[in-house]
Amino acid sequence: MCAPMAVATRRSRDADEGKDMTLTITKAVFREMLVVARKAAPLEACGLLAGTGERATKCYALTNIDASPEHFSMKPEEQFAAVKDMRQAGLKMIAIWHSHPATPPRMSAEDLRLAFTPDVAYVILSLAAAPPEMGAYTVRDAAPHRVDVIVADKTE
Ligand SMILES: [Zn+2]
Repeated sequence: MCAPMAVATRRSRDADEGKDMTLTITKAVFREMLVVARKAAPLEACGLLAGTGERATKCYALTNIDASPEHFSMKPEEQFAAVKDMRQAGLKMIAIWHSHPATPPRMSAEDLRLAFTPDVAYVILSLAAAPPEMGAYTVRDAAPHRVDVIVADKTE
């Protein structure tokens, strides 16, 4: 039995309903997320990712008004401004992201409870391990479904 451990490209097993996706994040966007997350630590950082298709090419870092190490709320004015900026740039919102400064990149009960936005991925950047890890999910019926996320500048 051969089980290749290509975690980043493995299809998630539970994504058998609805739309399956592979989220691609450009290296520049990933670097920006890391900088923002490290700067915010030990508090959670949060923001939005925008792009086209399933490819995130722009990172918006927003203020976490909860100023908490365990949960986040995006500042509404900044969120509206970011969405407006995306529209003007011809981009769509692909993901809502936040950091987990000290825990793995899994959705917490609180994250799930507050995952109201349809048709976006929820991306968590964890600083708990080195190198940092990302987890991406879509939420359907209040359950997280893992989606693949890769950091790459080119699509295959
Ligand atoms: Zn979280």
